[in-house]
Amino acid sequence: MAGHGSVFGAMLQEFEGAARILNLDQGIWKMLTHPRRQIVVSCPVQMDNGEIEVFTGYRVQYNITLGPAKGGIRYHPGVTLDEVSALAAWMTWKCAVAQLPFGGGKGGVICDPTKMSRRELEALTRRYTAEIIDAIGPDKDVPAPDVNTNEQIMAWFSDTYSMHVGHTSTAVVTGKPVEMGGSLGRREATGRGVMISARESARYLGFALKGATVAVQGFGNVGAIAAQLLAEEGALIVGVTDWQGGVYNAAGLDIPALQAHVARHKTVAGFTGGEALAAADIFGLPVDILIPAALENQITDTNAGQVKARLVIEGANGPTTPAAHQALHARGVFVVPDILANAGGVSVSYFEWVQDRHGYFWSEREVNERLETKMVQAFDAVLKTAQHYNVDMRTAAYIVAINRVATVTRMRGMYA
Ligand code: NAD
Repeated sequence: MAGHGSVFGAMLQEFEGAARILNLDQGIWKMLTHPRRQIVVSCPVQMDNGEIEVFTGYRVQYNITLGPAKGGIRYHPGVTLDEVSALAAWMTWKCAVAQLPFGGGKGGVICDPTKMSRRELEALTRRYTAEIIDAIGPDKDVPAPDVNTNEQIMAWFSDTYSMHVGHTSTAVVTGKPVEMGGSLGRREATGRGVMISARESARYLGFALKGATVAVQGFGNVGAIAAQLLAEEGALIVGVTDWQGGVYNAAGLDIPALQAHVARHKTVAGFTGGEALAAADIFGLPVDILIPAALENQITDTNAGQVKARLVIEGANGPTTPAAHQALHARGVFVVPDILANAGGVSVSYFEWVQDRHGYFWSEREVNERLETKMVQAFDAVLKTAQHYNVDMRTAAYIVAINRVATVTRMRGMYA
């Protein structure tokens, strides 16, 4: 994943563009471009064949100025410290854009969960949790799911932490099953936020979601829910790809049928409700809206020229390289950056943490209404900033985020 160059380097480039416009003082600049803590752990696991494997895990707490570190845990063979650090930084800016009382963190374990049994995944999750246990907690650092991690993994995480501290701690992690303190609406929250970002952008650009055509890369938690909710708004999801292939239907794919296919086959490839689509062809489809919702470094300077969409909504974190972003912006493509577009997930994670701490749970309608308010407020703040400084939406989102974190950093002063 980090193979196309440093992901952290890409984050720094984005940061610098905004920091320069803000005329950010050098001291704060240095503080905001260094990760606060980077933890590296070795996690021995006895595999089903009796042998012991040792997995490397990371937890990065990039910034904790506004509150506890917040961010997901990724299980993937391509995880690197560089990538986890960039993702932790993006969480910092995302929480600030969404005005959440959280800093930014991220975790990752180098492993291939598709080749591991349920028992092996449980053992790995428990050992990883135990190895980072001193650094986490409801007031310190609150993990969540990310690529290849889910509610079950969060349940094991929460249980391991609870067994260590001697009481049930639900607020140590978000994205848990609803039965054990999860929030209604959390599973759909990132995709819902992507849909709201698309809807607000389309309104601003002067076209309707109803009848708009959409291409989605990645059909996991984010991509599938975004596709489903956009289809419910009347958009036509014409192309979808994942790690094994893709499908295309100019008249619009039947998204519930595609979800049922994926539940059975673990991939969109082979879906009979459309023709096969090569994974790389998703970016050049003649659509109104393109939603990268897989991994970082997907839209690069080599394929940015193919993009025909007028609107790109970044469901994934870091899907567009800085050079590709520049090329898209120069061509008038409206790009809603990750730290705004996918902030719905962490916003409802925040609602989950609040509900756990109060021991009082909200209805799904209440969660969705609060999410709607948060996303629209964040979108409006970034759009106004973009207009005020005459910059693209990504630079504007960074300006909003850096301003908020820098203001509190100055107020708190230097502890020496
Ligand atoms: P997921 O594991 O549920 O789904 C990932 C999807 O991407 C799968 O369909 C997979 O097949 C596909 N994919 C993987 N490699 C691919 C490739 N090379 N080409 C095409 N497709 C590929 O993960 P997710 O939770 O949906 O996360 C997707 C992205 O959204 C990540 O960048 C993640 O950091 C970001 N994100 C997730 C959340 C969340 O709440 N889950 C919140 C904010 C951001």
